[in-house]
Amino acid sequence: MNILFVAAEAVPFIKVGGLGDVAGTLPKYLKKRGHDVRILLPRYGGIDGHRFGLTPLPGPLGVPMGSSGTFWCEILEGRVPGTDIPVYFLERRDLFGREGVYNDPRGEGYRDNALRFLFLSRGALEAARRISFSPQVIHVHDWHTAAVPVYLDALYRGDPLLKQSATVLTIHNLEHQGIHPRALMDIIGTGREYFHSGDLEFHNQVNLLKGGIIHADAVSTVSPTYAREIVNPETGCRLDGVLRTHARDLTGILNGVDYDEWNPETDPWIVSRYGPDDLSGKRRNKEDLQKSLGLPAEDGTPLVGMVTRLVHQKGMDIVASVIHRLLDLGIRIVLLGSGDPWAHDFFRRLAGERPDRFACRLGYDPALAHKIIAGCDLFLMPSRFEPCGLTQMFALRYGTLPVVRAVGGLNDTVENFDGETLGGTGFKFYDLTGDAVVNTLSWALSVFRENREAATALIKRAMALRFSWEDAAGRYEELYRRAVKKKRP
Ligand code: ADP
Repeated sequence: MNILFVAAEAVPFIKVGGLGDVAGTLPKYLKKRGHDVRILLPRYGGIDGHRFGLTPLPGPLGVPMGSSGTFWCEILEGRVPGTDIPVYFLERRDLFGREGVYNDPRGEGYRDNALRFLFLSRGALEAARRISFSPQVIHVHDWHTAAVPVYLDALYRGDPLLKQSATVLTIHNLEHQGIHPRALMDIIGTGREYFHSGDLEFHNQVNLLKGGIIHADAVSTVSPTYAREIVNPETGCRLDGVLRTHARDLTGILNGVDYDEWNPETDPWIVSRYGPDDLSGKRRNKEDLQKSLGLPAEDGTPLVGMVTRLVHQKGMDIVASVIHRLLDLGIRIVLLGSGDPWAHDFFRRLAGERPDRFACRLGYDPALAHKIIAGCDLFLMPSRFEPCGLTQMFALRYGTLPVVRAVGGLNDTVENFDGETLGGTGFKFYDLTGDAVVNTLSWALSVFRENREAATALIKRAMALRFSWEDAAGRYEELYRRAVKKKRP
């Protein structure tokens, strides 16, 4: 199959979250299955053209932007490093030549995000024509590229290269929908007939994700539990009805893990490599981590880690509300994250108040993420919702037992400890309350302190689990075939 990925981010070029992992990694596994996969991205200011060997294609590309006229840009071409997968970048400095992907340095979304990502969506189709690539499937991701299926239906039905292209939309996070004032319809340029309750209109505004859900030939999300959650009013972010109607066979496909990067037996970031049969290396990593963060470097006290965006979704307010109760359980906590200003203030202050019990680094630090995931005993993720979540899967591979709220992908990847059979791979709680966090962590600690046999069995089982991209790619391939069939019955 010819497959075109259109996304706002993809590793290793640019990454903000899990979406970037999927858009950069899945194509490699589809390629191994024999598909001609290509990726289209914006050329952000932070993407180093020299490092990735980007070269311009001849001639400018004109992208029609409705009432705003034609936007001209350049197409740069490169390859996913280590592969021959072509990657095309739309280069337009006034839209993308900035440091941030979605937000300015203060964490505010850029005011022209609607324009930026409509340009990306329409530009992807124009670029496909320019390079004469006729995709059987165009795979788009989240609201940023959800306009692609709308454009195809509205404006490319007669296009010889694109009229047969089926579209697949993957929702990585339903919370972000691309809701903008109705005047955006003029720039979209499909005509006002697309602005009604059965299409892009949403409470008298434009909702790009809604349009994508309605026009895509198949819709997926990134875990089976999240797929079930988002069709319910409580967790459907006001699009549950649209999903129930227009995405009846909504599929949840778990993301895979890149085990070349996340493998405690080969990890270059950690001081001591280890496998399930000899965990002494894990203890050395714990000592190193504690030392490097200024905590007492002893082994007897359980160490709990968190690596996360510090935002509402991740439940950090709940952690903050019970942090002293948690520390009084006789543990130490290390936190790496960045996000909301209140959280930076709160955790920075806490590190000053309880320096023997709590340490944090506020920022983005991939090397430290590896050290924390390797060096801790337990890994805490009290998410409000979690479409898939990668860090708990990393933690499992490193034998760092996850303590998670049983939502979305956390529910699908962590198996609760069973005191009778001694089965499981971690500890789950259900209520979004401070008490649930404290009680579940206490439970995990009691297993750790009083039942070493069970704890060791849990660690070994966790380390043996694999979430493979091979499996995920196979499932996406099935989804693509379904979408193609729907497009051309
Ligand atoms: P989300 O996409 O919602 O942020 P995921 O768990 O799916 O959550 O993916 C988060 C990814 O970002 C993981 O690879 C994680 O290791 C990484 N990450 C998050 N915060 C940081 C940080 N402060 N420093 C380094 N890596 C981080």
